[in-house]
Amino acid sequence: MFLAGYGAAHPMAAAQGRGALGKFHYNEDGCNGRKKHTFRQASTMFTAEVLIFAPVDRALNYAIPDALQGVVQIGSLVNVIVGRSKKIGLVIALNEKNSTAFSYTLKPILSTVYDIPVTDATLIKLYFWVAKYYLCDLFSVIDAAIPLIVRKNISFKLTAYLQIIPNNGTVIDGKKLPKQYEAWQFLQQNPFIAKNKFLKQFSRSVLEVLLRKNIIYETFQRQERIGYEASNLLKKYNENITLTPEQTQVVASVRRSLQDKVFNVHLLHGVTGSGKTEVYIELIRSVLENGGSILYLLPELALTAQVVEKLRSRFEGLSVLVWHSGLSDGERRDTWQNALNAASTVVVGARSAVFLPLNNLQLIIVDEEHESAYKQNEHPRYHGRDVAIYRAKLHDAVCLLGSATPSIESYFNTEFKNYKLETLTKRIDRRQLPLVHVVDMRYEKSSNIFSRLLVKKMEERLEKGEQIILFLNRRGYATTVLCKCCDFIVICPHCSIPLTYHKTKNSLICHFCTHQEISHFKCPKCGAPAMFYNGVGTQRVEQVVGELFPQARVARIDSDIMVKKHEFIYILSSFREKEIDILLGTQMIAKGLDFPNVTLVGLLNADGSLNQQDFRANERTFQLLVQVAGRAGRGKIPGEVIVQTYIPGNEIIFFSKNADYGEFFTSELKMREMFRYPPYRHIININLSGENPELVKLFSKDFVRKLGELFINESVEIRGPVVSPLEKLQNRYRYSVLIFVQSVSKIAESIRIFHNKLIIPSDIYLTFDIDALDFL
Ligand code: ADP
Ligand code: ZN
Repeated sequence: MFLAGYGAAHPMAAAQGRGALGKFHYNEDGCNGRKKHTFRQASTMFTAEVLIFAPVDRALNYAIPDALQGVVQIGSLVNVIVGRSKKIGLVIALNEKNSTAFSYTLKPILSTVYDIPVTDATLIKLYFWVAKYYLCDLFSVIDAAIPLIVRKNISFKLTAYLQIIPNNGTVIDGKKLPKQYEAWQFLQQNPFIAKNKFLKQFSRSVLEVLLRKNIIYETFQRQERIGYEASNLLKKYNENITLTPEQTQVVASVRRSLQDKVFNVHLLHGVTGSGKTEVYIELIRSVLENGGSILYLLPELALTAQVVEKLRSRFEGLSVLVWHSGLSDGERRDTWQNALNAASTVVVGARSAVFLPLNNLQLIIVDEEHESAYKQNEHPRYHGRDVAIYRAKLHDAVCLLGSATPSIESYFNTEFKNYKLETLTKRIDRRQLPLVHVVDMRYEKSSNIFSRLLVKKMEERLEKGEQIILFLNRRGYATTVLCKCCDFIVICPHCSIPLTYHKTKNSLICHFCTHQEISHFKCPKCGAPAMFYNGVGTQRVEQVVGELFPQARVARIDSDIMVKKHEFIYILSSFREKEIDILLGTQMIAKGLDFPNVTLVGLLNADGSLNQQDFRANERTFQLLVQVAGRAGRGKIPGEVIVQTYIPGNEIIFFSKNADYGEFFTSELKMREMFRYPPYRHIININLSGENPELVKLFSKDFVRKLGELFINESVEIRGPVVSPLEKLQNRYRYSVLIFVQSVSKIAESIRIFHNKLIIPSDIYLTFDIDALDFL
C-alpha cells in the first residue's frame, strides 16, 4: 500500500511535469459505474483512495483505468461517481491490489479535473496531522487548506463591457432620438464601460437598439488583479544595507541549519527596530540561491503589504506571491497555480498560506510569532505557527520564528526544548528604545480621554512636523450605552454583551453577531431621555483629536475601515508620505509597521487588556505595550511613548516600560508553573451550547462525568462545566469544560472515539479548541 501519509509514490506515477491548472481531461467513456470495468488481464490492479468533498472522514476506493495510469497521482483532483451523482474528490493514496481484494466491483475514476495534482503527499500528511491534533474532520482541514475555487474548478465570472465600433459610419440624429444620442455620446466619453454601469443610466431597450444598429459591441473579460499591484503606493525600499554584527551572527546560525537540511526551529528574539526583517531578507536570498522556496507568514494583512513591497524592490524580477483572506477567487487560483509551477519562490501570506503547495520548501518564517491572529477561531481551530513548525518538520526544513515579545510557549522551548535562541539586543544605529512615560489617569479629569501630558507632547511633535500614532483597543464610538436614570445597559438581544455605539451609522452594533439597531434616544426600559455613552472607541477618539488639533491631518485604521478593500494600504502609504500627521487605530497598527518619522506613541488605555479574565492577560498586555511602544523612534529622532493607566504600580506596566522581556518571562513562568498552565500543560477548551439553558447544563454535567470515566487512569485534569464568560451568544447558552493535559496527541484519539460514540441532542453543539487562546 502506498499511503500518501508515508511519502511513498505510486510505481506507475511517473513524475508528471507540472503544468497549468486550467486544462482538464474529460473522459466519461463507459464509466457509468455499474458495469464492471476491465483494466488489464493481470490480477493486480491500481486503485486510488479518493476523499470526496463532503463531511465524511473516509476515503472511497476507485479503480484507475488504463488511460489514467500515471496521470492520477497523489494530490490529483478527480471526477468520480458517488451513489448516482458525479463528485470531485482528492486522491490521498494510491494502491496496487490483487483484483480479488475487493468483493465488489470498483467504480473507475472518470477523469482528472486538472492535468497536474493540486497538492502533494507531504501536504496531505499535514492535513492528516491537523485533523488528528485539532480534533476535526479531514474534510474541514481540506476546506481550509485548498480554496474552493481550486477544488471545484468553478469557472470565472466574466464581466461584460461595452465599446463603440470605430468608424462604422452610423450617425444618430440627436433631435429625433435624444436617448440614443445621449447614450452614444456617453459611450464615446467612456470607451470601455462595464455593461451594468451603463444600465444604471440608460434603459435596456436603448442598449439593444445600439447593439442592433452595430454602433456598439459587447465584450467579456475576466476581472483579474494581482495582490497589491499598485506598488507605487508604498515607498521603495532599495537602500543598500550592510548587516550589523548581531544580524550577521543570526544569519550565519540559521544558514548552518539550512545547509544541514534537517528540521530545526530557531526563535529570533529581537527588540523592536533591531532589523529582524533584514535578517529574513538575507536568509531568503540564501534559499533562493539554493533553488529553494520560502514561506513567509505574517499575522496581519497590513503587514503583508509592507513586506511584499520590501521584497519586490529587493529582489528585482522575482514574483513574490501573496496570500491572504482579501484575495479574489481569480487571484487565489492564479497564485495557487504559480506556487505549484515555480521551482523556487517566496510566498508572503497570512495564516492559511501555511497550506500552499510549494516546491522544495526550505525555510518557513513566522514573523510576530506571538500573535494570536495565527490561531483560527473557527473550525478547524488550528494555530498557523504550530502547523508551520510541523510542516517544516515534514519537509526537513528550517522554521524561523521571530518576535520582539515571543510567546511564553516559544521562549520556554528555547530553554527546555531544542529551539535555538537567536537574539538582536540593539536597535539599528544604536537608536534608543523610546522613553516611556506612565501617566496615572486617576489624577486627570475623569471625562478626559487625553492626559495633559499627552496633549502637551502631541502639540510639540506636531509643531516640529513629526508624526504620532494613537492606539486604542476598541473600535466604534462608545463601548456601552447606558441609562443614567435606571442604569440599564443596552445589551445585544442575542448575546450577553453590551452593544457598541457607532456614530457614523448612528446605530448600536454587536461586535459578536453583528446585530444592529438604531441608537435609542430614550431608555428602552424606563423611558427616560437619559442615554449616556460610556467608554471610548476609536471613532470617538477621532472626533476628540479633531477638536483638540483642528489643523492636524488624522486617519483611523480599524476593522471598520478594513471593510473597504485596499483602503488601509492607501492610509498607510499616505502616512508614510507624511500626508497624515496622526494615525489612530486598534491593534491592527500595534505591531510590525515601520514608520521612521513617528516620534510619539500614545497608548490611551493600557489597562483594557489587563482586566481580561484570562491567564494570558499579563502576557498580552506586555506584548501589546512593548509592540506599540516599538513603533516610536525608529528613525533618526528618538521617540517617546505615553502610557495612560489607572494602575501605574502594576508589575506588567513596569516590565513593559523597560521592555524587559527577561524579567517578564521569569515572573510569568513562575505563575504558569504554579498553576500548571501552558507551557507546562496543554489546554483543550470544550464549548457546549444550546438554546435551552437547562438542557445544556444537564448535558454538560453528564459529559464531564463520562469524560472523567474515560481518563480515570491518566494524568488528565478536567475542569467544569462552568458557564462561559460569554454566557449567551447568538441565542445559544454556553458552558465550558477545560481539559489540562501533558500531551495532546496522546489523548486526541480517545477523545475522538469518545465523541463519535456520544449521543448528542440535536440542539446541542460541541466544539473542541486545542491549545485554546480564547476562553470566552
Ligand atoms: P524590526 O522588524 O526588528 O522591528 P525592521 O526590520 O523593521 O525592525 O528594521 C527597522 C529599520 O531599520 C528599518 O527601517 C530597516 O530598513 C532598518 N535596518 C535594518 N537593518 C539595517 C542595517 N543593517 N543597516 C541599516 N538599516 C537597517
Ligand atoms: Zn450579538
